[in-house]
Amino acid sequence: MSIGNLDGLDYHSIRGLLYKGELSCNDLVENYLNQIDAKKDLNAFISVFPEKARSRAEEVNKKIRAGKGGRLAGLVIAIKDILAIKNEKVTCGSRILSNFVSPFNATAIDKLLWEDAIIIGKTNLDEFGMGSSSENSYFGPVKNPNDRNRVPGGSSGGSAAAVAASMASAALGTDTGGSVRQPAAMCGVVGLKPSYGRVSRYGLVAFASSLDQVGPITRSVKDAALLLSVIAGHDDHDSTSAALEVPDYFANIDRGVAGLSIGYPREYFTEGLSAEVRESIQRALKILENGGAKVEEISLPHTECAISTYYILATAEASANLARYDGAHYGFRADGITELSDMYEQSRSQGFGEEVKRRIMLGTYVLSAGYYEAYYRKAQKVRTLIKRDFDKVFDRYGCIVTPTAPTTAFKIGEKLDDPLQMYLSDIYTISANLAGIHGMSIPCGKDSENLPIGVQLLGQSFNESTTFRIGQYLQEEFGN
Ligand code: GLN
Repeated sequence: MSIGNLDGLDYHSIRGLLYKGELSCNDLVENYLNQIDAKKDLNAFISVFPEKARSRAEEVNKKIRAGKGGRLAGLVIAIKDILAIKNEKVTCGSRILSNFVSPFNATAIDKLLWEDAIIIGKTNLDEFGMGSSSENSYFGPVKNPNDRNRVPGGSSGGSAAAVAASMASAALGTDTGGSVRQPAAMCGVVGLKPSYGRVSRYGLVAFASSLDQVGPITRSVKDAALLLSVIAGHDDHDSTSAALEVPDYFANIDRGVAGLSIGYPREYFTEGLSAEVRESIQRALKILENGGAKVEEISLPHTECAISTYYILATAEASANLARYDGAHYGFRADGITELSDMYEQSRSQGFGEEVKRRIMLGTYVLSAGYYEAYYRKAQKVRTLIKRDFDKVFDRYGCIVTPTAPTTAFKIGEKLDDPLQMYLSDIYTISANLAGIHGMSIPCGKDSENLPIGVQLLGQSFNESTTFRIGQYLQEEFGN
């Protein structure tokens, strides 16, 4: 089979070819390694594991032939470089961890490996997941495969670009405020942020622990459902992972949308939303209505507080989580220092990038004695109000449909000097993290410049099944 023929295929299709013997894992891995090499200019990968991937392909191939392949046999996957893989670097896109090698696997990684996935490399990202464009990386910006002058979104931009450019069958990203869904939308692939607690965070380097989740980036909704089935579940290493059964996400996935109630929040269709994105989402709503769903306007009244609430809570948590990088314990240490306090100061000053420093300062400020009540405490209260908005809607609706991002991919450099503009690109994704619910972005057409648009489906905590069902229906109707 020629290399080009695999472009755009999801894992479900590839799996079919592997099991029919029309393709071997070895061919598959060579194909992706060639693609990674040919598309180096995208800067999607920080590290690539050709030898490991090849020897694993050999092993998995044998298992498939013997009828003993796991649920992800032959899934070639790229991992955001903020998840720990044993004996590999986990840089987090930062100078401060640029040489740090992990002594253990994240739980999500173990689970992939137990099911015979093949890890091909680690993807580029905004430093510690802080950003919306994948430009805040010590390893340079990632480019959007649809237009190399544009950003791929962020912070999991390397993962989204890798899947969109067929450099892997799927990827893992992480999402604290939209970092799986927004880059998926901007690159034209599927991205899922699971409900908080659905997937273990063990081995995910913490940005904001009460918001972070690991999520799949895939070519299809069914691939997302399959990956979630594998990585979900309780983990003794993470007390915030939920002790709930992982349902069979495939039981109802092809049932269509007839009889479902779907809401679209009026607060998500106001100024700032591009006309072309709005039209695409309206088209998606029409498709759902034609499929027999009841589609109605709803209200999430505290939406306007989401960005400010997030940037208080996320920065507060980040300032605490990042305190551990001090030059003594992990990674980078500044040269030529004799005093202990200078070592801390210089290692952190030289090791962290601009955006990370901005957030540490903001987070330290909102947690400081004089301001804690006014900012941090208040933001916690507003977070509860945002969550209640969703609870109320989910009493009556099975899903909320929104745009994933206000615009399609913007130009590299366009928002770099204006952090507030950058923060606004997550305006539709951030509330889900604050509320702990899940969200999935799926492609829903392109704008007049041929740039992908994503529609976001938000669903109740731990009810990913309904979201997959709606996503599957939309994907088929859109012919993605
Ligand atoms: N863009 C948001 C931020 O910069 C969200 C990032 C994320 O989800 N990791 O914080």
